[in-house]
Amino acid sequence: SHRALADHYGQLATQAPTSLDAFWMPFSANRQFKAAPRLLASASGMYYKDVEGREILDATAGLWCCNAGHARPRIVEAVRKQIETLDFAPNFQMSSPLPFVLAERLAELTPGNLNHVFFTNSGSESVDSALKIAIAYHRARGEGQRTRLIGREKGYHGVGFGGISVGGLPNNRKWFGPGLPGVDHLRHTLDIGRNAFSKGLPEYGIELAEDLERMVALHDASTIAAVIIEPISGSAGVVIPPQGYLQRIREICDKYGIVLIFDEVITGFGRIGDAFGAQRFGVTPDIITAAKGITNGCIPMGAVFLSDAIHDAFMQGPDNAIDLFHGYTYSGHPMACAAALATLDTYAEENLFQRARDLEGYWQSGIHSLRGLPNVIDIRNYGLIGAIELAPRPGAPGARAYDAFVHAFHHGGLLTRVTGDVIALSPPLIAEKKHIDRIFEALADALRASA
Ligand code: PLP
Repeated sequence: SHRALADHYGQLATQAPTSLDAFWMPFSANRQFKAAPRLLASASGMYYKDVEGREILDATAGLWCCNAGHARPRIVEAVRKQIETLDFAPNFQMSSPLPFVLAERLAELTPGNLNHVFFTNSGSESVDSALKIAIAYHRARGEGQRTRLIGREKGYHGVGFGGISVGGLPNNRKWFGPGLPGVDHLRHTLDIGRNAFSKGLPEYGIELAEDLERMVALHDASTIAAVIIEPISGSAGVVIPPQGYLQRIREICDKYGIVLIFDEVITGFGRIGDAFGAQRFGVTPDIITAAKGITNGCIPMGAVFLSDAIHDAFMQGPDNAIDLFHGYTYSGHPMACAAALATLDTYAEENLFQRARDLEGYWQSGIHSLRGLPNVIDIRNYGLIGAIELAPRPGAPGARAYDAFVHAFHHGGLLTRVTGDVIALSPPLIAEKKHIDRIFEALADALRASA
């Protein structure tokens, strides 16, 4: 009967469902999708298979999360063992071993003295947790008037009310009311005029960091709690920081006692050739938010990494007082912890962060070979991230990139990601040169076909 059960659930998971009506898909054109669905049924290594059994090369690591590729044996075993051993344990005034083991492991990977880990279940929760902790930290130090938060235009920090408030994507904001009060935004740094077809870090734009000085002049540092920035933004279409920009932001935060949060939900766990973007860029923030690659995408989990100074500010009250009035039922879920530990082991055993860095040059040559194809107005890359920006079709923003994405999927057997007029790429870090070649061949076809 064990076998029969496995067969039953296995079939449900790999066959096209009889109805697509009830599931309201997130961030999707539901009616368009349901008229011509793309349904992934299984995955292994660099490849998905769809419900028809067609092989699809994964050029997006799922959704920027399966950094070690799919169905990796250590992770499968760890999760299987954990579900048989301990399915759930509360973490409020109680716990189990794995969150502690995992937090110690993570603290070894983080830069500087970011030695403390708060667990969440997603990037959005990590962001909202980090914003709350930053505000509460100032209050704990007797600077409770520091409540203002600063984000950036084109920033994506998930979909919580905090995240959309500091975020800078109009579509994600305008439907949902005014958001948090007391939020301001730095200008974004995407400048195709000056930086088109940059390889690696764009040359122009460091002066945009001075926006933070202007915010301080306008609002006064004594009202500002934190600045949140993605070292490289993904969901806004891959915006890579100009040379020196992040360093300058760090200097200004230091000057005024502003907490610097790096949102590394995408850049964390090897995506740009180091554990975190912080290390790759040589800039240590006070807080890092993470998710996605922490479990290789297989179980939802997020984390907030906090400096000693921030953590210790909460440990001043009586021992029996709760130090942070915040947490989720599933913070430090044992299944997620097991998946994360095996994921970190896989990254280490296969030296995948270094591998991303070793492949970066090949990746860069491959993506820039698309220059000159129809409608390509910019190409951006860093680590194993890439973006191809297309001139929008008049009157139909995003349609051209969407068509290329659909063509690549159905005709090229390639999974990419589209945001607006940008095709974004982030292959698993186990990619080989032959996979990289195939990604750019299939994309070149798709770009010609959707011209
Ligand atoms: N922050 C960044 C930088 C992201 O890229 C994302 C997701 O893409 C999020 C936050 C939100 O993560 P989640 O979708 O897990 O809530």
